[in-house]
Amino acid sequence: MQTKHKIILHCDVNNFFASCECALNPSLKDLPVAVTGEKSKRNGIVLAKNNLAKSFGVKTGDIIYQAKQKCPDLVCVRPHHDIYEKYSKRIRKIYEEYTDKVEPFGIDECWLDITDTAKFFGTPLEIANILRKRIKEEIGVTISVGISFTKTFAKLGSDMKKPDAVTEIPFSKYKNMVYPLPLGSIIGIGRKLEPKLNKLNIFTLGDLANCDKNLLKTKFGVIGEQLHDKLNGINDDEVAFANDSAQAKSIGNGTTTLVDVKNMQEMKTVVMFLCDEIATRLRKKCVVGSTFQISLRKNDLTWITKSHTIENSTNNSFDIFNTAINLIEKMWDKKTQIRSVRISVSNLCNENSINQLTLFEQKNTQKEKLDKAIDKIRDKYGYMSIKPLITQNKELLNSDALRLDDTDIDE
Ligand SMILES: [Mg+2]
Repeated sequence: MQTKHKIILHCDVNNFFASCECALNPSLKDLPVAVTGEKSKRNGIVLAKNNLAKSFGVKTGDIIYQAKQKCPDLVCVRPHHDIYEKYSKRIRKIYEEYTDKVEPFGIDECWLDITDTAKFFGTPLEIANILRKRIKEEIGVTISVGISFTKTFAKLGSDMKKPDAVTEIPFSKYKNMVYPLPLGSIIGIGRKLEPKLNKLNIFTLGDLANCDKNLLKTKFGVIGEQLHDKLNGINDDEVAFANDSAQAKSIGNGTTTLVDVKNMQEMKTVVMFLCDEIATRLRKKCVVGSTFQISLRKNDLTWITKSHTIENSTNNSFDIFNTAINLIEKMWDKKTQIRSVRISVSNLCNENSINQLTLFEQKNTQKEKLDKAIDKIRDKYGYMSIKPLITQNKELLNSDALRLDDTDIDE
């Protein structure tokens, strides 16, 4: 029986922050460029770099003086997040000309499901190349595209060749192309899981795909089962519709602190700083969320990630803060120092859809009143006009770091 496979593209802008800076200011184009935090502070690390800077060995996470040692002519520019948002939107608009199923992942990546619409535009490879060329010509940045029959393999494909390239992982070749790769090549296998898999003699994606599914289920629960399915090309997620804000999107925030976070008190400061802003954005969009993902970047630059879904969706700052802190309590040993924290809330749905439930929860009204009052003040006087006291820590945080989503880590 012939099954009809989906056609999914994953498009990833190369060196997004640095590419936007170069597109905006073409005189930078032939120079080694890094987008960096503030020079005088520890926050002065490389957030993104262009290929020329990369060729000198400049890495995301380098402190500015280290980067300058590797590349003395390095041009350092400060980040412009509002501009990156605009570029991101313009790029998505182009994708949306080819399908209504465009699901963003971070600021610079999208999945496109073109199964039903490809016939109007060409073969999948032709469409990928059209997108690649159009975005280069019209926006001035380059993308890498992966083409496959699942989201997992499409994303893997976009990582295989870059910049400005297309990689196809067709059903007939996926085992040959994917299975020799190391475990860390796909999202979902973190630093914690990898050694545990190694103990079971699992070293490549193929080892994992061919491992007994029940064993994985026993050892790692749903995650093990899901990974096994994904690597066998089944049960992969759908690409969400572009206008399906409820399901597709998440609202997140991340920051690199000025000094490493050493204890829970400092962690609470950072987490409140992030959660307060996330909650404000959720309320602005009139949505609530229930799935939390926390990523902590240790001072050796590796990440630890954990997610959790709560029963009652929320957009209240303190609920979000408490959930995040509980998760961090479980995932962080407090011995390792933490350099960056990212938090995102997903599984979003319209606020009104849960209003009926909250009617019975009178205890929430006080918190809601407080949120509303704060939102009003911010609407009038700007976001920074009112902040939780706990976040007033100038040693640790820098208001410039707000919404510093460094999605551009793509070595
Ligand atoms: Mg990218």
